[in-house]
Amino acid sequence: MTTNENKFQAIISHAKEYGFVFQSSEIYDGLSAVYDYGPYGSELKKNIRDHWWKSMTQMHENIVGIDAAIFMHPLTWKASGHVDNFSDPMIDNRDSNKRYRVDHLIEGYAATLTESQSEEILGRMDRLLAAEDFSGLKLLIEEHKIKCGVSNTCNWTDVRQFNLMFSTQVGSIAEESDTIYLRPETAQGIFVNFLNVQKTARQKIPFGIAQTGKAFRNEIVARQFIFRMREFEQMEMQFFVRPGTQMEWYDYWKKARLEWHLSFGISRDKYRYHDHVKLAHYADAALDIEYEFPFGFKEVEGIHSRTDFDLKNHQLLSGKKQQYFDNELNQNYIPYVVETSIGLDRMFLLILSESYEEETLTKEDGSTDSRVVMHIPAKIAPVKLAILPLTKKDGLPDIAREIMDGCKSHFRCFYEEKDTIGKRYRRQDAVGTPFCITIDYQTKEDQTVTIRHRDSMLQERIHIDNIKSIVLDAIS
Ligand code: ATP
Repeated sequence: MTTNENKFQAIISHAKEYGFVFQSSEIYDGLSAVYDYGPYGSELKKNIRDHWWKSMTQMHENIVGIDAAIFMHPLTWKASGHVDNFSDPMIDNRDSNKRYRVDHLIEGYAATLTESQSEEILGRMDRLLAAEDFSGLKLLIEEHKIKCGVSNTCNWTDVRQFNLMFSTQVGSIAEESDTIYLRPETAQGIFVNFLNVQKTARQKIPFGIAQTGKAFRNEIVARQFIFRMREFEQMEMQFFVRPGTQMEWYDYWKKARLEWHLSFGISRDKYRYHDHVKLAHYADAALDIEYEFPFGFKEVEGIHSRTDFDLKNHQLLSGKKQQYFDNELNQNYIPYVVETSIGLDRMFLLILSESYEEETLTKEDGSTDSRVVMHIPAKIAPVKLAILPLTKKDGLPDIAREIMDGCKSHFRCFYEEKDTIGKRYRRQDAVGTPFCITIDYQTKEDQTVTIRHRDSMLQERIHIDNIKSIVLDAIS
């Protein structure tokens, strides 16, 4: 395994082979940029979601959760600015008819240049994007003779905006039906419920509302596996603050969210902040938390200071006041909002990228062996404990089943009798199970089992009574 590209391809194959991620509708040759999660993937995804939910809601007394619908009144997206502004500048190649996001096309080209040349062209691109100077962007592409990867020509159309929202119809009779959108972000379900939540949860500013759920974007350049999907899941939290204090909270959440990422034991070097030059239509400050994926540093989470943009516009379009009465100030105001928004699927890919290792092992006799091991942090691993009787006979499965019954209501266990112990260990390494226990003939005599630690492969004998607490300590 030499290059990062190879590593990324190996991760994609591994994810399929071991039941983490499948291409959607694969038997019909798949649907582009849509994926399904398999038995291990759905467990891992759920564990990441639960961990985020707990760290946001249970660990913060002033953050509560909601679960809003995907469909919302069409005016929601007018108020939020998505109908008018949620678009990316695109350019088409006339020879191949292939459409590109302009920033991706230029970034791809910049990656082939020296560092200083790349910085120069990306700086120029950022300034043109910020100024929405589309003819300037086209000029930049032409000046550098950036070619289409398919036709290998520079025969480009003008740069145009392309809205990313999916629309559909509600109502059974075509003439009476209304166009509604599949939400492109979960945040608006939080904004329109702001007063409902504030009153029913008896919250005082500053307080937050958290939500996880599906979002949909008609991404033009859908690539890099589950990094950029058309249907994906977000974990978002809107933190409502007094106007004027938003920068303090922006700094607070910027640090707190990076800490959350590092709490998985991931090195700080793998992360960096990227401040936005071109701010989204709703923001007065924004940054990305980027992680070094096998294909480079890319955004995994956004921190946005969204001002009072959303609530103010919902007040305007709905005609309903979206104000909060601040007892301490004896004053009504529309709160300002700081948002943390992380893609669950991107976090999932981050965990796969960070965990995947092809390890070469040197045996006692000097010969070598290899294994693929997923070093998934124990607290989010799909399975926590594999219970493996050495043989199918002599009462060993009975003891193993008893251990299984004692543990399965506390954490996810996996039971298996088939194949040699070595093969069974390898399969558990490949899905990231942090602990395996083997029940053997000695177990019948002294009530001990062998526990094997995934990362170090160390094996030790422990008493059956200690199994549960060892695993619980590691995952708590
Ligand atoms: P990008 O620049 O990569 O398109 P974005 O800045 O548009 O992302 P946000 O609108 O800030 O993304 O969304 C918040 C988070 O949602 C992102 O940090 C990312 O983790 C996730 N996300 C956004 N779009 C997608 C997508 N198409 N597929 C998977 N996750 C996504």
